[in-house]
Amino acid sequence: MPDDLLQRYQAARRAYLAHTRSCTRCTDTAHCPDGERLYASFTRLQDAYLAKQRRD
Ligand SMILES: [Zn+2]
Repeated sequence: MPDDLLQRYQAARRAYLAHTRSCTRCTDTAHCPDGERLYASFTRLQDAYLAKQRRD
């Protein structure tokens, strides 16, 4: 069974990285509103994924 959480985490990470590469307003320390939203989604899924890893 595919790990849905892992896939969503990786997709969110890809979306965030793709955004920061193409966005002129995002830096290492600050994000534009879109970047902030993608970053929040990525870190939330990352936390959930890592917490699951620790449980399993
Ligand atoms: Zn941005």
